Amino acid sequence: MPYLASANRYDTMQYRRSGKSGLKLPAISLGLWHNFGGVDVYERGRELVLRAFDLGITHLDLANNYGPPPGSAEENFGRMLREDLRPYRDELIISTKAGYLMWPGPYGEWGSKKYLVSSLDQSLTRMGLDYVDIFYHHRPDPNTPLEETMAALDLIVRQGKALYVGLSNYKPEETREASAILKRLGTPCLIHQPSYSMLNRWIEDGLQDVLDEEGIGSIAFSPLQKGILTDRYLNGIPQDSRAAGQSVFLKPEDLTDEVLGKVAKLNAIAAERGQKLSQMAVAWILRGGRVTSALIGASKVSQIEDAVGAIANLDFSDQELADIEAILQG
Ligand code: NDP
Repeated sequence: MPYLASANRYDTMQYRRSGKSGLKLPAISLGLWHNFGGVDVYERGRELVLRAFDLGITHLDLANNYGPPPGSAEENFGRMLREDLRPYRDELIISTKAGYLMWPGPYGEWGSKKYLVSSLDQSLTRMGLDYVDIFYHHRPDPNTPLEETMAALDLIVRQGKALYVGLSNYKPEETREASAILKRLGTPCLIHQPSYSMLNRWIEDGLQDVLDEEGIGSIAFSPLQKGILTDRYLNGIPQDSRAAGQSVFLKPEDLTDEVLGKVAKLNAIAAERGQKLSQMAVAWILRGGRVTSALIGASKVSQIEDAVGAIANLDFSDQELADIEAILQG
């Protein structure tokens, strides 16, 4: 059956400006890091992406290495674009990244111009696109001059292969320096993609101030702490969960009694707000408008629906914020 997007897709989602740019992003974005690779069932990934778009999630986040195997998430997404989403290309913000290992030899990772330009060319081929909307440097490279990496991002925009550029996992001072170079080159940094959740608050210590000062937006990855900030692990580790699976990024050892104790208390506050914990976790990172978009992952359509449901209540009372703070500090 050919896909026909829902006529109501723009009814509930909020769109928020990324920093001082002209680009608005959905408050919830979907990442294709897990569940979209060659090892996963294609139809399930397709269902997730199409449901997301039907709910107003116009932004889909990829990277050269998403899979496994690396590159396969872009290949699968390319098939979705070809078979389902082609008529909607101009309604989509598609991002990809380069920084981590993609191919052997000295040019297959980090931040040289050689690597970044080659990697984006490969990504465009895999996805069947002429350009991506956002191209990120995925992680800082301590051994390549920042000028070279930023010049590569500027070049890519001038070549028409990306509309905007972003930085991911850069610390506050690296971000400030990179932003200054990009401004000088005439390709201002659109967005920063850091990790951020109730259980991982490093960006509050300096990065958010730099982003405000530089007029850069932010899209927070792993806002649910890879699934911990949901009701998923409150009664053990389900067989179909990330912690039970092959991911090296979430292991049963991460689910300590201390963490799960906090999660249970947060779950109770969420219930008092009439939300699921996953919804409160998303609302919390979007509080006050400092984060442009919450970049979630999903293995089920219902998880995307949960996240979008958070939009109905993004406000917190002072008491709620204080209660949450007490749990997180405790
Ligand atoms: P999340 O913290 O949102 O975790 C998503 C996982 O949580 C889901 O796959 C699912 O796991 C579980 N989950 C989601 N919703 C619910 C729910 N309502 N109830 C119960 N469980 C739920 O984000 P991710 O860690 O997946 O990262 C999101 C995106 O961020 C990535 O796809 C990627 O685009 C980006 N990213 C970027 C990085 C970077 O370096 N720039 C690094 C990491 C991620 P389960 O399988 O258990 O169902």
